[in-house]
Amino acid sequence: MNPVTVVTGGSRGIGAATARRLAHDGHHVAIGYRRDHDAAAGVVADIHALGRRAVAVPADTTDPDQIARLFDAAADLGALTGLVNNAGVTSPIGPFTDLRPDDLRQVIDVNLVGYVLCAQQATGRLTRGGAIVNISSAAATLGSPGEYIHYAAVKAATDTLTIGLAKELAPHGIRVNAVAPGVIRTDIHTRSGAPDRADTAAGRIPMGRAGEPDEVAGAVAWLLGPDASYTTGAVLRVAGGL
Ligand code: NAP
Repeated sequence: MNPVTVVTGGSRGIGAATARRLAHDGHHVAIGYRRDHDAAAGVVADIHALGRRAVAVPADTTDPDQIARLFDAAADLGALTGLVNNAGVTSPIGPFTDLRPDDLRQVIDVNLVGYVLCAQQATGRLTRGGAIVNISSAAATLGSPGEYIHYAAVKAATDTLTIGLAKELAPHGIRVNAVAPGVIRTDIHTRSGAPDRADTAAGRIPMGRAGEPDEVAGAVAWLLGPDASYTTGAVLRVAGGL
């Protein structure tokens, strides 16, 4: 039987690359997204072309009812085996004192509350052998001074969520891990007001370049797969040495 995995924020960036990679590895995939219908439809078409089942559901991960609809749609693909908690946002880059309360709340709501709600929904549906991967960030240990400290703090919370959930769910045969990407070439940097960040950051990355979404997707696929059968509570850094 094919694994069935939910990927939140699967329409673009790291989530889209992960959905495609998982389909390549034999997963049926349910992707959630917020508003980019065309991008989501494109990912579904690519998954179908690989001979897997797929569905795209507009599901804001801050809304428990919309999350439930996403997981209900995934159930139509087969028994749930995995969740990739990926949907995330940043806010404009700038000094800490310029941070606006609405941006702070949005970052917490999507990147933390959303992850918790999706993990809760998955936990109620996964059986033994299931796995969750939370997309964290290298920012969790770097702190992102002068950029977005609040985002870094929320990603540190993601790591703690991963560790706690891994311990709580281990007796139930469910593994929980995180991937912490560094600077990856996606649209997320546009919202930060730094669309060229993947190139401008290259000089401070030990490997001398930003990462590509596919390079993160491979780590997620490994953590969801049988080769990671004894790996839980891990935060796997995919950051070019950052
Ligand atoms: P991205 O290219 O901006 O894509 C974000 C995805 O999340 C889109 O599919 C978007 O849907 C979806 N999304 C955003 N808010 C949502 C919400 N409230 N409900 C449901 N879906 C929502 O971002 P990315 O760079 O791939 O980032 C993915 C994850 O990696 C995030 O958790 C981010 O913090 C983390 N990360 C990224 C980097 C990096 O450098 N790119 C580095 C470290 C960590 P729509 O298309 O509908 O807007």
